[in-house]
Amino acid sequence: MKNYFYLGKKEPEYRQLLSQSCIRIEDKVIPLSRVVSAEQVHGSHIHICTKDDSGAGFGDKAKIAAADGLITQVPHQYLMIRTADCAPVLMMDKRHRAVAAVHSGREGTRQNIVRKAIDMLQQHFGILPQDLCVWVGACICAEHYQVSPELYEEFITSMQEQGLHPKLNKDNQLDIRLAVFQQLLSAGVAFRDIDQDMNCTHEDHGYHSFRRDGGNLRQINLVGIEHE
Ligand SMILES: [Zn+2]
Repeated sequence: MKNYFYLGKKEPEYRQLLSQSCIRIEDKVIPLSRVVSAEQVHGSHIHICTKDDSGAGFGDKAKIAAADGLITQVPHQYLMIRTADCAPVLMMDKRHRAVAAVHSGREGTRQNIVRKAIDMLQQHFGILPQDLCVWVGACICAEHYQVSPELYEEFITSMQEQGLHPKLNKDNQLDIRLAVFQQLLSAGVAFRDIDQDMNCTHEDHGYHSFRRDGGNLRQINLVGIEHE
């Protein structure tokens, strides 16, 4: 067994896929009937997928309702998270028992959705935090993510309640990437097993950015377990 993962850039774009039957990434072809996508609502609910969830969100099949995290142990089922400034977080067990895909934006990060995914991997599949490799994709940087004083306070307070040390600044800028990194470490994932893409989606025009462009274009991010 091996893990497959993909952290997206502008192409292939999510909405273009809806009229197609597969995703083409370089020389890899993934049928959409094997992909699972969820209705992302900036919450912290995580859905554990079954074989029957394959294809959710494509063709006539509804998305998984209201979930910002997906977990599977089904080989050749690919979990999709869509992002445009929020952080995509892909978790892989080194022994290939299960994988997780998480959408961690401001609200998901505030609610520590990555911790929830790590706890569920342990409870349901016996996967310890130190068994994980985690990839965090490009997201908006603090400099480009200024929010209202109210949202800033709420976020910082939640981080402190989690025992974390958010980077404080007087301009109400939120550092999602740093927060997710601290949450992963705090949950027990080893420093060497966390890989972060340091690109800012707002600065780098190779990515879709909701703050920069508005609209509904999204990066796709995928993770799955495959046979050798
Ligand atoms: Zn930036």
